[in-house]
Amino acid sequence: MASVTFEHVSKKYPGNEIYSVNDLNLDIRDKEFLVLVGPSGCGKSTALRMIAGLEEISSGVLRIGDRVVNNVPPKDRDIAMVFQSYALYPHMSVFDNMAFGLRMRKAMPTGAPPGLSRDAAIKARVEEVAKNIGLDQLLTRKPRQLSGGQRQRVALGRAIVRNPQVFLMDEPLSNLDAKLRVQTRATISRLHRDLQTTMIYVTHDQVEAMTMGDRIAVMRDGLLQQLDTPQNLYDHPTNMFVAGFIGSPSMNFFDSTLQQEGGEGYVVGGGFRVKVPQQYRQALSAHTGQKIVFGLRPEDVSDVRMERDVDESTVVPVSVDVVEPMGSEIYLYLLTKGNQQFVARVDPLTRVNPGEQMQVTFDMKKMHAFDPQTQQTLM
Ligand code: ADP
Repeated sequence: MASVTFEHVSKKYPGNEIYSVNDLNLDIRDKEFLVLVGPSGCGKSTALRMIAGLEEISSGVLRIGDRVVNNVPPKDRDIAMVFQSYALYPHMSVFDNMAFGLRMRKAMPTGAPPGLSRDAAIKARVEEVAKNIGLDQLLTRKPRQLSGGQRQRVALGRAIVRNPQVFLMDEPLSNLDAKLRVQTRATISRLHRDLQTTMIYVTHDQVEAMTMGDRIAVMRDGLLQQLDTPQNLYDHPTNMFVAGFIGSPSMNFFDSTLQQEGGEGYVVGGGFRVKVPQQYRQALSAHTGQKIVFGLRPEDVSDVRMERDVDESTVVPVSVDVVEPMGSEIYLYLLTKGNQQFVARVDPLTRVNPGEQMQVTFDMKKMHAFDPQTQQTLM
């Protein structure tokens, strides 16, 4: 078990103009489940591969525990990596795939009972892990005789038997179908709880990030955007990129202006004017009269007919463009009178048809506001 620390770590691949990872500072705690998330090409795999020692570091310091590992070869870092592609040996049985890493090492497997030969200790360790992750009936099979989900479990098992200080996982679920992905997600979360080992997990999928991470590091263009718990990222995104990336459907953004009238603040957009709650007035007062980007998540919009005690200062007239029933909820694609499109996630009992006019209310206690130039939060 160990922490992993990036101190001003940068990576530029030979021949590239730009940094793939740019001045990354990140302190991953011992036993933490840290998710690196961001769109394709943001540098998350490069960051992970630098921890594994599979990519050289251009500048900065990388530590595992207290040890600087910049120049430590991969085999001496005491990490295990699970890839999207499983990378199993096709001619070896499940047992031999899982035992391979232990056989290559000189030491006895961790936790081996005293008195066992090395072979017997390896066998005991592989069987113990196989049982724990439901592979004990499949140990004699070859990878081609397994389903995708089972193969992925072998890849996980092979990493677990070595009892590494740090687990690295690079999109390990992306070759699985949707149902299996959800199941394996839960398996990995349970493993993390049982093993109490530092896990660093790369994904482009914000749902995986939200459901698995103790903390999430959101990256874009090689730059760390925000590092926080899932709920804090969701509630307090630091900029429009994080606000739009975390949450599905994405946060709605409205080009708006902040206005003041009779001591009250208002957000005025194309075809709506809604009151700023008392609690945000101070933070936003410096921006009175200025353009802002007003942000509101789809679940913070509701049909006035489904609400009690509607505050008139938060009601917005809209026309209904598209209705998407999801079963447990309905997504409404709405247009303000100023033709700004946005999405509402509403109660499944809402009865509404495309083309109709309706009134919605904005839950302004959940509002976000961003600077249109810097895209940073104003709140
Ligand atoms: P992600 O995992 O977020 O999709 P990567 O870390 O794989 O992103 O890539 C980050 C950037 O580095 C991309 O622009 C990619 O093209 C570039 N890159 C990745 N690997 C190499 C390589 N071996 N040589 C040159 N450029 C690379």
